[in-house]
Amino acid sequence: MTAKTIGIIGGGQLGRMLAMAAARLNFATIILEPQKDCPAAQVASDQIVAAYDDPAALAELAKRCDVVTYEFENVPVAAAEKLAKAVSVYPPPKALEMAQDRLTEKQFINGCGIPTARFHAIDSQSDLEAALADFGGQGVLKTRRLGYDGKGQRVYRSVADSAEGGYVALGSVPLILESFVSFEREISIIAARGIDGAVACYDPAENVHRDGILHTSTLPSGISDATAAAAREAAEKILTALGYVGVIGIEFFALADGSLIANEMAPRVHNSGHWTEAACVISQFEQHIRAVTGLPLGNPVRHSDCVMTNLIGDDILSVPDWLRRDDVLVHLYGKTESRPGRKMGHVTQLHR
Ligand code: AMP
Repeated sequence: MTAKTIGIIGGGQLGRMLAMAAARLNFATIILEPQKDCPAAQVASDQIVAAYDDPAALAELAKRCDVVTYEFENVPVAAAEKLAKAVSVYPPPKALEMAQDRLTEKQFINGCGIPTARFHAIDSQSDLEAALADFGGQGVLKTRRLGYDGKGQRVYRSVADSAEGGYVALGSVPLILESFVSFEREISIIAARGIDGAVACYDPAENVHRDGILHTSTLPSGISDATAAAAREAAEKILTALGYVGVIGIEFFALADGSLIANEMAPRVHNSGHWTEAACVISQFEQHIRAVTGLPLGNPVRHSDCVMTNLIGDDILSVPDWLRRDDVLVHLYGKTESRPGRKMGHVTQLHR
């Protein structure tokens, strides 16, 4: 195979794991990231130290790479579109555009025939009050852009929760109020589409969050075969509608009656797919590299049951204990400083 160079925008742990998977298939990687010695650059072939939308840096990336991908969804769409004129960019910039704004995202997902929570766009305090009245005083208020790990959100559980000041508290920026979904569990599906249109889906995982951050992903997820099939069908519709190439993560709420409500999609490899590196022959990272370089997709079949646990902040202190176990894959991200809420690594425990 001719070695090719892959550009990766973003230098966090997802970029790091993509670079590691790329290296195994003889691809070189160049990371575009403003922070020097970032987790991805530590294992990649080279780094361009610059902002994600720096025109000279993007021109250099296009010149030196055969294909460019990204590890986070807030890459400026204009920068990705400009880049796509000079080099292949996968996933397509349209996927970024759809995923960056929760309103556009929900409209797009509904347009694919997939249900989401009901929602209202909120651009003022009076919008918020009218929308809450429509939802019987319950709902989840979220910033439309740049929210992650539960940041930029406020939950209204009943009419007793005062809406006063809600719009200002979230920064007086464009918001969305979603109806409150009483779900039985949260699941996600990691799916991939190749340049040839082939689709491969991993088994859905059950996800448990702590303080708004993913804590564990468990396989099997406990949903029925019919619900799993519905998740795969939804993923296929979304991938096809976007003309997608690469790996996507889609989160759903599973209701007690087995039906699914889509919550959000991430046009990249996803934290709830880290288990694939231990419980599948082909990880989500290798799958993404295969997809964006035009290689055949790998078989996403799972050979083991497992639980992936994120190591957040001081959880990193438990690594010596995890390392003593013979059924656990430990993966650390090369971050020197541990802070509360910071993802430092993860472990996947196999149950065979
Ligand atoms: P998100 O940032 O959209 O992933 O939301 C973070 C977490 O908040 C989710 O994982 C859910 O646990 C909870 N959540 C978000 N939206 C809703 C909703 N509409 N109804 C109930 N819970 C929600």
